[in-house]
Amino acid sequence: MTTAHVTCPLCEATCGLEVTLDENQQVTRVQGDDQDVFSKGYICPKGASLGALHHDPDRLTAPLLKRDGEFVEVSWQEAYDEIARRLPPIIEEHGRDAVAVYAGNPGVHNIALTLYGRVLYKALGTKNFYSATSVDQMPKHYSSGTMFGDPLAIPVPDLDRTQHLLVLGANPLVSNGSLMTAPDIRGRLRGIRDRGGKIVVVDPRRTRTAAFADEHHPIRPGTDAFLLFALVNVLFEEDRVTPGRLAEHLDGLDDVRELARSFTPEAVAPRTGIAAGEIRRMARELADAENAVVYGRIGTTTQAFGTIASWLVDVLNVLTGNLDEPGGAMFPLAACQPTGNRRPFKVGRWHSRVRGYPEVVGELPVATLADEIESPGEGQVRALITVSGNPCLSTPNAGRLTQALGNLDFMISVDVYLNETSRQADVVLPGPSPLERPHFDLAFYQLSVRNVANWTPATLPSALPQEWETMLRLTGIVAGQGPEADVAALDDFVAADVARRAGLEVTHDRTGPARLVDLMLRAGPYDVTLADLEAAPHGMDFGPLKPRIPEVLCTASGRIELAPEPVVKDVPRLRDELAKPVDDGLVLIGRRHLSSNNSWMHNLAPLVRGGNRCTVQVHPADAARLGLTDGGLAAVTSRAGKLEAPVEITDEIRQGVISIPHGWGHDVDGARTRVARANPGVNSNLVADETLLDVPSGTSVLNGIPVEVAPA
Ligand code: SF4
Repeated sequence: MTTAHVTCPLCEATCGLEVTLDENQQVTRVQGDDQDVFSKGYICPKGASLGALHHDPDRLTAPLLKRDGEFVEVSWQEAYDEIARRLPPIIEEHGRDAVAVYAGNPGVHNIALTLYGRVLYKALGTKNFYSATSVDQMPKHYSSGTMFGDPLAIPVPDLDRTQHLLVLGANPLVSNGSLMTAPDIRGRLRGIRDRGGKIVVVDPRRTRTAAFADEHHPIRPGTDAFLLFALVNVLFEEDRVTPGRLAEHLDGLDDVRELARSFTPEAVAPRTGIAAGEIRRMARELADAENAVVYGRIGTTTQAFGTIASWLVDVLNVLTGNLDEPGGAMFPLAACQPTGNRRPFKVGRWHSRVRGYPEVVGELPVATLADEIESPGEGQVRALITVSGNPCLSTPNAGRLTQALGNLDFMISVDVYLNETSRQADVVLPGPSPLERPHFDLAFYQLSVRNVANWTPATLPSALPQEWETMLRLTGIVAGQGPEADVAALDDFVAADVARRAGLEVTHDRTGPARLVDLMLRAGPYDVTLADLEAAPHGMDFGPLKPRIPEVLCTASGRIELAPEPVVKDVPRLRDELAKPVDDGLVLIGRRHLSSNNSWMHNLAPLVRGGNRCTVQVHPADAARLGLTDGGLAAVTSRAGKLEAPVEITDEIRQGVISIPHGWGHDVDGARTRVARANPGVNSNLVADETLLDVPSGTSVLNGIPVEVAPA
């Protein structure tokens, strides 16, 4: 028996796990690591399934090449030869923008793909870069970019010291935290209670978090921006604006006062479904609390006014004097800080060819990827590289995108499974299991409610190449070096660049992500090296979050832009919406399950047991009106498409709203995920409308999709 201590890479919580293996290298037990400095023994069902993932017989063990419509296993050399034969001619004939990239959400949990994916994307030089960010959190990057000058400077709730937590559109008891790295959320929320604090949840559904909270407001989906503006309005009207020490770092306070003027509690109450008196009370309690934090997540970002809502969350944190203060919303200081010159945030450096959407953080909205593939003309997308992504399940109007992929001249997928998307590729390049690669949560320590770091070496050797090598092989091909590119030389080149940006000498005692992480640690704020982290298998704790303003600011003015022009110019659209008659038609929202993370891990039997989760939750009054019966089939129709799923009548959901989980729909031919196929669920993105977007950020509306529902 051997025991390994690893950081779980399966969600944002970064739990430390203890993995036990027998003499045949079989995982016999996975449990929480009691000594982990951050998670202190916490584990959820996903983490407990790490062994099942490692031993999953459906995981790919060799590259696949499609020949005459059928996949065959080939050597790595054959796979790269095929790519070198087919990809460069497309670039030569049609230009670099003819190759699109879709980077999926698991890549952010994978240090090789995080660090070396960007090397490939830069070498490719395409403007057609898409990722899961535009179906998730882009509005938050946009608001942070415009307010603080850095799209990655996202303040997180100081959960362990706050006395008042106002949550909008988030269900951390089930998601385990998002844009907020915080293992054992239940323990931390309980801590707020034990300190005499208060938790208020605003959500159309009585989620697990809402049920746990002291107060729940079932808001109409997509109206958070109205509520948040009304809270701002009350703070100004009642002279409760107290930015404290931030006052000397702020621009735009008077502009915000003016912008909020028309969004009175009385004006927004019919929209939000929350009474004006309740909104006033919420604002007063927020202002009067010893400290407080407003936290908004997926329900506030994947909606038509996601950027305004994301901005107003931090406006409220500023106005109540809770930004950058203990117990409020604070900026983590990760051990690995991004290296290089920080430049003020810019958007719209290029636009999508067909629908003219502006680039944000180097990306175009994935909602328009199908347009770019389908529409002929110069710049048409003819090839696609997907990296750890399943956009055929996770992006809007998934049915259209699935069809569009059939028009490509060439497609490569880097993926551990043959899933609903990678089945359409010409070449599939697999990677090692999480236990066969080193791990470091580069992205999530930047969002952590405590400053911590933990390095996980690979527990087991891998028969497959590490994904950083795969990324460099692909880089060599798109850079014109062919399939025999010298990976070691490319890696030295990447490391030299990181070292130069960090103002350090490049080192040669390590390779791959280990060397890059070591360089970034050396350039970081805590005087630690990778060797220090290697000597601390339960992680290193650098303490609670500390104030970082003004050092964290990267705006051109060097100040907090409380009323940033790119966001402010979207406010008239919100005002116009307020002037329209209230639309009380049925809308669809998503929902999350503790045993699932988007479309991941549905091929693991322990995580999908318990029957079909893809029910259409509907309020009893709506069910009666629509003639729906519990357990009967409902047909859900939108502009984009139609699906059928069993009805679950529950008063957990607000009237006028239905809910279906996202990330499912495994009932397609050609994928090799037998457990998922036997538990397919339905693909809610078949009815998600790719034409509905948050205008500034191009993020898809996945919460608040207008639908019609009838018995099937
Ligand atoms: S909460 Fe997240 S990080 Fe922790 S064990 Fe579960 S999946 Fe892993």
